[in-house]
Amino acid sequence: MPRPISVTVSLPAMRHNLAAVKNQLSRTASTPTRIWAVIKANAYGHGITQAMQAFAEADGLAMLDLDEAVRCREAGWRKPILMLEGYFEPADLPLYAEYGLVPAVHHGEQLDMLQAWQAPRALDAMLKLDTGMNRLGFQPDDYARAYERARQLQHAGKLSAVGKMTHFARADDDLTTTLEQLRRFERATAGMPGAASVCNSAATLTPGPWLDLGRQEPQWVRPGICLYGASPFAARSAASLDLQPAMTLTSSLISVRRVRAGEGIGYGHVFVAPHDMTVGTVACGYADGYPRHAPTGTPVTVAGRPCRLVGRVSMDMLIVDLAPVPGVAAGAPVVLWGEGGPSVDEVARAAGTIGYELLCAVAPRVPRSMTSLPGA
Ligand SMILES: *Cc1c(COP(=O)(O)O)cnc(C)c1O
Repeated sequence: MPRPISVTVSLPAMRHNLAAVKNQLSRTASTPTRIWAVIKANAYGHGITQAMQAFAEADGLAMLDLDEAVRCREAGWRKPILMLEGYFEPADLPLYAEYGLVPAVHHGEQLDMLQAWQAPRALDAMLKLDTGMNRLGFQPDDYARAYERARQLQHAGKLSAVGKMTHFARADDDLTTTLEQLRRFERATAGMPGAASVCNSAATLTPGPWLDLGRQEPQWVRPGICLYGASPFAARSAASLDLQPAMTLTSSLISVRRVRAGEGIGYGHVFVAPHDMTVGTVACGYADGYPRHAPTGTPVTVAGRPCRLVGRVSMDMLIVDLAPVPGVAAGAPVVLWGEGGPSVDEVARAAGTIGYELLCAVAPRVPRSMTSLPGA
């Protein structure tokens, strides 16, 4: 028998989450809005082809990797594909043309590459402005010049539609900063026609003026994490946002033992039994993608009951306190996160990280299965 660990991806949950986002936008966005479902990093660890099916009702997909974009086209995705970092070298451009990809254009060298290119057909592009993330995009003072260059490239038949985008640094925790970024965006792009795109999950799920940019052309929002059923906010659970977990990581107890008071448990004996206790060993460790920094107390569900991790996570195993489930034996089911267990956000919080990182980090050695869409 293979090791009992596995990861299950629920396409119905992903489809539900997209519908939940649309539903909320229908109430909160005052202008027409389209959705680029963000599927970078192998769809946050859920699988590109799975995401393509689950997000069939999205208006477009957004990602980074040229190979993944080509795979989506070859698997039949016909709607727009936004490439969040754009092209990296001139040799990428023919693929952009062949597959109809929309680059984010964020620095002058990318415009130079376009200018030097013998374009077989014009590309749509999103011209990116840095409004305070200080990561990617033209500075506000350089934006008008970049936009003017993009207009010239339109006349030269190398670009067709040119939109405007930026990215928020603190939409999850500080709306004052977010408003300031929005003001910079509006100032720097004033009088420049084209579709706007500014919202990640946190901004998409927060009513506010960042949802009112579709007055001339529909705006595009770019939700990622929420589509996978995790929360972008530290203080709001995914469930309270009507999101369903798309990924469930399960395993089993492979051993149960009594430990006497005063005995240390696991590497470094960082946990010492305060009293006689029963503990179970779970076939899941950091080589499976479980965070090694998850401390004693991190929630783990055993046989349907909330339990806690004790001691250090090892490469292939972790140990749980079985006090809440007296009598369970080896073979009992364990949910590390997802449906029927703690949320990935709760585990992440305990481990000092965010759900995004855990979802992306599940190791290739963990066998995968999926819950298909009805009728698929
Ligand atoms: C990752 C990313 C998103 C999606 O962010 P979430 O927080 O997962 O919603 C949107 N836009 C850009 C530019 C990104 O890099």
